[in-house]
Amino acid sequence: MIIVLKPGAGQAEIDHILQRIAELGLKAHLSRGEQRTIIGVIGDESKLQSEPLQAIPGVEQVLPILKPFKLASRDLKREDTVVQVGRVRIGGGSLAMIAGPCAVESFEILDQIAVRVKAAGANILRGGAFKPRTSPYSFQGLGEQGLKILRDVGRKHDMPVVTEVMDPRQVELVDRYADMFQIGARNMQNFDLLKEVGQTRKPVLLKRGMSASVKDLLMSAEYILSEGNPWVVLCERGVRSFEESTRNMLDLSAVPNVKGQSHLPIIVDPSHATGRPDLIPAMARAAVAAGADGVHIEVHSCPEKALSDGPQALLPDQYAAVMRDLRRLAEVMGKSLA
Ligand code: PEP
Ligand code: MN
Repeated sequence: MIIVLKPGAGQAEIDHILQRIAELGLKAHLSRGEQRTIIGVIGDESKLQSEPLQAIPGVEQVLPILKPFKLASRDLKREDTVVQVGRVRIGGGSLAMIAGPCAVESFEILDQIAVRVKAAGANILRGGAFKPRTSPYSFQGLGEQGLKILRDVGRKHDMPVVTEVMDPRQVELVDRYADMFQIGARNMQNFDLLKEVGQTRKPVLLKRGMSASVKDLLMSAEYILSEGNPWVVLCERGVRSFEESTRNMLDLSAVPNVKGQSHLPIIVDPSHATGRPDLIPAMARAAVAAGADGVHIEVHSCPEKALSDGPQALLPDQYAAVMRDLRRLAEVMGKSLA
């Protein structure tokens, strides 16, 4: 349910409405827009049916939110949400350029990569310390040691860092080192994990599951928001299809599709979507042209020796070439690249 307030509604009226909602055992979510203040009411809406909310002073209109996701919905909040990671703003016209290796392998290797991606214009450094590998015999990540390396290299180059958290029991540990949590495609519907990161106030990069619909993705974001953490950035990273020549099928329509339905920022990961360095530059350009709030690309200084996802990594020079194009495109799109 959305309660739209009259343009001149004052604080006393707002407080009164919030109190009524709390008395009914429902959660209120206040959203002050430039034009209007609206209150989202989440919970068992049948409790509201006997309440003549329309009669409360300051209330202009009471509307149902028809979508199954409420807090993530643009019906509740018209303005784009801008998520701040360190000094980097994501959304509302500012682009996140996330780059780095699939996995943190050593200080030296990450350091070499960070210098290059930063010089090319990346503003957030990525690297996995806990890796969700298809095979239990593949490199699983350096764990806490990897987190320390990531934090130290990020600090050295003055870049905020994002890294994957795979289990609710890791949230506290990862929280100590990272500026942003990543929830990977395989965990998009790990609801306990979503609730756990929802309990923090740290930004979350939520990647679309490989067989998840856009609605499923937004419902997963809703889990995080409903716990009180509003800082969610969505990521389209391709879905499974019958096509065998690419790793996944990049659903670029997800970008305007999400933007029409939600105020949350959405970025694109052409690395995991295509799995092919020859396709990444074109898909990165297409992502920015489609209105994405950023691009997430895996880069390695020596892809043939990478311990994870080497074949899809761009070399630093290739990344720099992509970034030159993205900068020009960003200008055309009226976006800024912090
Ligand atoms: C990754 O970012 O390295 C990763 C494993 O991504 P995804 O969850 O999208 O497969
Ligand atoms: Mn990877």
